[in-house]
Amino acid sequence: MKKSKILVTGAGGFIGSHLVTFLKNKGYWVRGVDLKYPEFSTTDADEFQILDLRRWENCVRATEGVDEVYALAADMGGMGFISAHHAQILYNNSLINLHTLEAARTNDVKRYLYTSSACIYPEHLQKDTNVTPLKEEDAYPAYPQDAYGWEKLVSERLCMHYREDYGIETRTVRFHNIFGERGTWEGGREKAPAAICRKIAFAKLSGETQIDIWGDGEQTRSFCYIDDCVEGIYRLMLSDFHEPLNLGQDRMLTINELADIIARIAGVEISKKHIDGPQGVRGRNSNNDKLREILDWEPQISLEDGLRKTYTWIEGEVEARFEQNADMRKAITV
Ligand code: NAD
Repeated sequence: MKKSKILVTGAGGFIGSHLVTFLKNKGYWVRGVDLKYPEFSTTDADEFQILDLRRWENCVRATEGVDEVYALAADMGGMGFISAHHAQILYNNSLINLHTLEAARTNDVKRYLYTSSACIYPEHLQKDTNVTPLKEEDAYPAYPQDAYGWEKLVSERLCMHYREDYGIETRTVRFHNIFGERGTWEGGREKAPAAICRKIAFAKLSGETQIDIWGDGEQTRSFCYIDDCVEGIYRLMLSDFHEPLNLGQDRMLTINELADIIARIAGVEISKKHIDGPQGVRGRNSNNDKLREILDWEPQISLEDGLRKTYTWIEGEVEARFEQNADMRKAITV
């Protein structure tokens, strides 16, 4: 049987670049689209277009001649970025998603996977560190914490209505904190696992063993390794399930515990300095009952195994930076 031609948007980003490699290994023809090429590797895509998907005509070009779209392009980052750029995020991501889905429809795309987020869940269900894991139906009545989550929720609904009204097969995944190698690790858009790996690598290489943690570090989360993430999205795309589905690990831990695990992997003793900083919701975990039921699968890779690979990669990046320029040491401690 002839395999589908696939478009991955956000293919220059963290999850998108891994997904392109995964799909190529499965034998698909893949077009990647992004504002930039992947930062930490070359792309495996058959074709890569540099396009701004906020613009309608670029979305038409991107979706031409493909059967399926994995829509990952977004203006996003960790809590530091999300909590400080509400207007920019809502504007940019709304344009990207409205135009990409409508262009996919006009180009007769058959299947469309939208990447949503655990950030859509209502803030009042996440006020306690010992939070009840979030089920898909907890999304309503809606009250996400940030503009990032509101836009994701509206785009989820856009997918639902396009499926109902126009018959395009949409799939919607809600990621819970994906981490791994080749993700942003500095510059302000990095997320907690990468930021803590960077701080601990710096501590190890510089001998300055105190690291900053935002808040009291008792906020809780679950973390899912990138290989499980791409496997999960692929399985969802192939399934006939069209409602939003959580994709993450359901092992919850505090940020302090996350730092302790990474320090053990690095083989350094660290002390934590708790400073003011955006923390997001107080607690969050994924309820994976539906994931297991629908995909007959759940993430397989342990947090420790995923962090070992991620830390090793980030330590290598930090070390290379040290070698390039001693003055850069200061810049990467922030
Ligand atoms: P990322 O920032 O690494 O990748 C997003 C990519 O989109 C970037 O390469 C960026 O350049 C591109 N992009 C931004 N604006 C664009 C535009 N106007 N036109 C074309 N491309 C544009 O993020 P990621 O972690 O790979 O996330 C992928 C998707 O998954 C996003 O939709 C994100 O919101 C969602 N998500 C990720 C996580 C996570 O933990 N990483 C959690 C929840 C949801």
